[in-house]
Amino acid sequence: MLSTMQDVPLTVSRILTHGSTVHGGSEVITWTGEGEPQRRSFAEVGRRAARLAHALRDLGAAEGSVIGTLMWNNAEHLEAYLAIPSMGSVLHTLNLRLPPEQLAWIVNHAEDRTVIINGSLIPLLAPLLSQLPTLEHIVVAGPGDRSVLEGARARVHDYEELIAGRPESFDWPEIDEREAAALCYTSGTTGDPKGVLYSHRSLYLHSLQVNTAEAFALGSGDIALPVVPMFHVNAWGLPHAAFMAGASLLMPDRFLQPVPLAEMIETVRPTIGAAVPTIWQGLLAELDARPRDVASLHTVVIGGSACPPVLMRGFQERHGVRVVHAWGMTETSPLGTVSHPPAGVDEEAEWTYRATQGRFPASVEARLIGPDGERLPWDGAAAGELEIRGPWIAGAYYGGAHGETLRPEDKFSPDGWLRTGDVGTITPDGYLMLTDRAKDVIKSGGEWISSVELEGHLMAHPDVVEAAVVAVPDEKWGERPLATVVLAEGVSTGYAELKAFLGERIARWQLPERWTVIPSVPKTSVGKFDKKVLRRQYADGELD
Ligand code: ADP
Repeated sequence: MLSTMQDVPLTVSRILTHGSTVHGGSEVITWTGEGEPQRRSFAEVGRRAARLAHALRDLGAAEGSVIGTLMWNNAEHLEAYLAIPSMGSVLHTLNLRLPPEQLAWIVNHAEDRTVIINGSLIPLLAPLLSQLPTLEHIVVAGPGDRSVLEGARARVHDYEELIAGRPESFDWPEIDEREAAALCYTSGTTGDPKGVLYSHRSLYLHSLQVNTAEAFALGSGDIALPVVPMFHVNAWGLPHAAFMAGASLLMPDRFLQPVPLAEMIETVRPTIGAAVPTIWQGLLAELDARPRDVASLHTVVIGGSACPPVLMRGFQERHGVRVVHAWGMTETSPLGTVSHPPAGVDEEAEWTYRATQGRFPASVEARLIGPDGERLPWDGAAAGELEIRGPWIAGAYYGGAHGETLRPEDKFSPDGWLRTGDVGTITPDGYLMLTDRAKDVIKSGGEWISSVELEGHLMAHPDVVEAAVVAVPDEKWGERPLATVVLAEGVSTGYAELKAFLGERIARWQLPERWTVIPSVPKTSVGKFDKKVLRRQYADGELD
């Protein structure tokens, strides 16, 4: 029997309309690097989004057209985030840190006909233009040298001139909530990048979840600071979620270094921030060296890679900022788990819970699969590959405008669950504890060594700034761990000391024999440790 309830599609245009009216006084504040930050009310963002939609429609964008953005986190990017899906087109966020050939591959695969770009990023796009046959329009927002675009086949427009004088409202079409709203490609560490097409429904439900107390609890009194780029899994859902909740947004634009971050936190006083561990590590070091008033921050969300416990404690104990650890993937929108400890546990247990990746929300179902395909118990001990499903979890990849959707066997189980490639345990009360990525785990003589665990312990040593552990081939054991460490300035700590430190915390057979001091850990396009490069460059570490 069908229900008697109204069937109202969950669409991005509803987030846009709600945020720009009910929360019209909330603001998007973009850091400019000098003088006052740029402030724009949600009401104004709503009017400008309507003007942008009219302009894009005049450039030929229709329902289903894919429109790329090559932009920092700023007000204009937020306008694109809201306008493009609301008009029925597909927002395609381009990762500005990708190698040029991958960027070109992605634009071509998605068949972007229009790209909105920040002026400062023109040098990235200009050399690729001859390889981008589908591109017809380039819309430039903000200052930058446009002369290099002269002679391009695509027409070049100025963002402000393009939207000027257009109507300030738009008759947003009523879209099927299952239609595509946004497109994001995985960074393609193995093989070609894969596109995940988020639906209106998935973005809407994900935004609701982000705003619950079990996740980031955004409300209209908050100012959210997404340091995580808007091209990295939709800045973890914060722009849409904040617009829905009426939480103001502090956008760092291109000022992602520790000093301007500290300055913008002290000046604008955000209440919640989100980024990968390497960014927060840099900020913590800056705050330790030159303390600022960061008391406005009640929460710092850390995800994208395992959060070293020492980082969590450092923020809390020295700066009074609570770190919330979260796990997710491009394929999961990205909210998978968030680590809020259960109520009423003692302090020690609380830290243990907080170091886990966290609990699954009701909409994300999880199962652990053992090496022989058997289902493992949630007992906090049995480790297997994590598989999940839910309304904001990908069920396939985008095959391109003329291709079929892709469901590679290593990524999707025959019954449609997403194979995450992450290995871990789940406690009876639903806390996920990842031990490693399947491809990073070190298989030594039939036993598994968790690179993440070793890294977490090493980074707790006062002289170690960063540590990354990778597997290297070993004749006797198959694989053994190689520890690469970045030491603090001016110290000359030896491997023997680090090994002894580690020896007090892990089993003897897991201790690395090979060590290398490196100047910095190579990072991926979204700021995670790039273990592929490490394995290649430092495979011959020294024996301690
Ligand atoms: P990429 O594979 O390019 O890094 P994603 O940004 O989608 O692309 O990364 C997803 C992966 O990042 C997860 O599968 C997991 O291995 C890792 N990850 C994300 N968050 C965490 C976390 N909190 N702890 C450990 N690993 C994490």
